[in-house]
Amino acid sequence: MWTLKVYSCETHINHALDVFVAKEETFPIMEKLDEEKMLSTKCEYCDTPASYIVANA
Ligand SMILES: [Zn+2]
Repeated sequence: MWTLKVYSCETHINHALDVFVAKEETFPIMEKLDEEKMLSTKCEYCDTPASYIVANA
């Protein structure tokens, strides 16, 4: 089960991964969101629709 999830756009994906690694001290899994979810979810770091989800496995 995922305990930490971060949504991110293309621009902030590297930042999201860095933050995640710093917090969790483990490398996260990263998945591209399907289109339906992309439209309803915003990036954690800006107002762009999110393209990725970063989460611990
Ligand atoms: Zn962003």
